[in-house]
Amino acid sequence: MIKAVTGTKDILYPEILRWKYLEDTVARIFNNFNYKEIRTPVFEETALFARGIGEETEIVGKEMYTLVDKSEMSITLKPEMTAAVVRAFIEHSLGKQQPLSKLYYIAPMFRQERPQAGRLRQFHQFGAEAIGSVSPMLDVEMIQMIYDILLALGLSDLTVKINSLGVPSSRESYKKILRSYLKDKKDKLSEDSRKRYDINILRIFDSKVESDKKILENAPMLLEHLDKESAQEFEIVKTLLHDADIPFEVDPGLVRGLDYYTRTTFEIDSGKVGSQSALCGGGRYDLLIEQLGGSPTPGVGFAAGIERILLACENEKSLKIQEEKLDLYIVRIDRELTSRVFRIAVNSRRANLSVDFDYLDRSVKAQMREANKLNAKFVLFIGGEEYGKGKANLKNMSTGEQQLINMNDMDILVKLIK
Ligand code: AMP
Repeated sequence: MIKAVTGTKDILYPEILRWKYLEDTVARIFNNFNYKEIRTPVFEETALFARGIGEETEIVGKEMYTLVDKSEMSITLKPEMTAAVVRAFIEHSLGKQQPLSKLYYIAPMFRQERPQAGRLRQFHQFGAEAIGSVSPMLDVEMIQMIYDILLALGLSDLTVKINSLGVPSSRESYKKILRSYLKDKKDKLSEDSRKRYDINILRIFDSKVESDKKILENAPMLLEHLDKESAQEFEIVKTLLHDADIPFEVDPGLVRGLDYYTRTTFEIDSGKVGSQSALCGGGRYDLLIEQLGGSPTPGVGFAAGIERILLACENEKSLKIQEEKLDLYIVRIDRELTSRVFRIAVNSRRANLSVDFDYLDRSVKAQMREANKLNAKFVLFIGGEEYGKGKANLKNMSTGEQQLINMNDMDILVKLIK
């Protein structure tokens, strides 16, 4: 038997109702902030991600689904969305049409990671990008949007963490300070961290290894070595977060080890999803657009993982979603009346009622069982004595009330049910 590929998942009913609820909530809240949806292709030229995420990252180095197509082009299933949005922003000259582009997306992403709870190979993210302004109000807007979405989904065990990465020049001088602090401790670092020491020293702070964490406890932090302007902006971000009533922690170890990241970074963690606790991550990337061939334009954004958020909702029991109800189930008492039932179904479906009936030649009792299983609001009985008089019995399933309706006046049926 062929099964779904490891790390991918089918989403079945009624689980799909939770997805739709989340997607509706996401769209509603983005709309409140005047963000417009963008959809980009599932795959892009590999070079986009290599440049847009960074060759030295785990995503590009180890996790991308890359293939060479028949025209010898290397293409990659998108592992994240920012690079794709920026590509579209540059390609369609969105910056010339309006000075600030506020965009959001909901889309599948692909990374060949080791699957575990909250970590898949095809997963789904929603997120936003605001391209065209350096205003720290947008940094806070990002945090507020995702925070409000998580609150609207009923989550409460949340920790908002923020940090500032400053600008590349101050970061470079800080890296030297960190390097000299770690120089005589390098041998005690984990193998991964030793590699990072040479390639991308900031990412040492991402290490989950206890002995690494111990060594880093007393390390000089980037936050203490920010350039003056970034330090001022960081204060503004904190003030605006207070204004938006968003509790937060400053986490000086929250780093993104890429040169085009600037200033604000943030993450929101859930205490209810185990070791993969980050529900979202984001930050400012004022140098990325230029890096991808556009004219220098600042940007800020975030991405949130839908599976992980739904897992948090499940563990917090925060979403109470009712299963869908059927407007009408038509029970056929006499077998010969099937085509009559079919015609009623045709018309009432055209009148926008959700309608079902029996296709399996089942007994009246079995049809009633089915109507109950489908949460039918009304059941219409076709057949028997009433039918001889040109009438049918309509039963309201919540009150138990029954009513005879005229078979020639199906408009009344629609009115009664709507
Ligand atoms: P990132 O793009 O790596 O900053 O991730 C942003 C968010 O996407 C994370 O906080 C997770 O919620 C989610 N995410 C990232 N990778 C995966 C994955 N492999 N499986 C499920 N969710 C993921």
